Amino acid sequence: MTTAPTPRRILLASPRGVCAGVDRAIETVEKALERYGPPVYVRHEIVHNKYVVKTLEKKGAIFVDETFEVPEGNIVIFSAHGVAPVVHEEAARRKLATIDATCPLVTKVHKEAVRYAREGYDILLIGHEGHEEVIGTSGEAPDHIQLVDDPDDVANVEVRDPDKVVWLSQTTLSVDETMETVGALKNKFPNLLSPPSDDICYATQNRQTAVKKMSAESDLVIVVGSKNSSNSVRLVEVALGAGAGAAHLVDYADEIDEAWLDGVDTVGLTSGASVPEILVERVLEWLAARGYEDVETVKAAEESIAFSLPKELRRDLRAEAAAPVEVRRATRPGGEW
Ligand code: SF4
Repeated sequence: MTTAPTPRRILLASPRGVCAGVDRAIETVEKALERYGPPVYVRHEIVHNKYVVKTLEKKGAIFVDETFEVPEGNIVIFSAHGVAPVVHEEAARRKLATIDATCPLVTKVHKEAVRYAREGYDILLIGHEGHEEVIGTSGEAPDHIQLVDDPDDVANVEVRDPDKVVWLSQTTLSVDETMETVGALKNKFPNLLSPPSDDICYATQNRQTAVKKMSAESDLVIVVGSKNSSNSVRLVEVALGAGAGAAHLVDYADEIDEAWLDGVDTVGLTSGASVPEILVERVLEWLAARGYEDVETVKAAEESIAFSLPKELRRDLRAEAAAPVEVRRATRPGGEW
């Protein structure tokens, strides 16, 4: 008697992919290109995704590492990860017109940092050293903020007053690891204050919850996302922690190694918060061509959050809509913002 082959299936995480902050940041660059014409300069990758950056480059965006690389009098967009006040000051010195595409949920953390610093707190910022978001947040109150990477870091933390300490965090961390670090901090500082609401954003949390839900049933989890995307990398870690047989991060379908599928009946599939859905669709096609056609959605949450475009851009789009055509291009350079 022959046994029937085991059906191959895909568990598709929901929600996945582009979040409200990323959607807004990408649309900001696209609308700026339409409104002012290329080139439009963007400081750092607008979001951490190779495909998005390449697509916007083709449309005329120029990505730079530092503000001084932007020719004077031009337009520069700040990325979704946020920037320190010194970056705004430098842009003003160089007479650059700025559009701030910082995600409003990152701005919320910046404001918390400013407020607690003003009130004299030592701020313990849980996050990854060198990440753009952490650099931007730390720059809001450099004399009050110290970075705590993980529980092992806690022993080295020294504060002015152990009764006046608050923790904040990067928006894209692992929820579970962050709470471990908070636990270690609370052991050291029993009066440690928590932020008024979660700093780890709704999109990061929902994507981790969805991947957790499907990982125990998945022989392999594929996370679509770039290696410099913090929340995508966290999804791989969360999948492994939640029982996935294996988990890999890929930017594109053609990076999947056929050998990963050896003995795999169930593939879990998700994508980071900066990943356009077309990249997931290509992975689904790639898997379908190898017999994984049965797709089951694993739902963890509904998302309906949307953010409006940065106010500088909204204002110029409104002005453009009201102005005669010949006047529109005349408002391109900075100074009139
Ligand atoms: S991952 Fe969260 S903080 Fe980052 S851009 Fe998206 S919504 Fe904003």
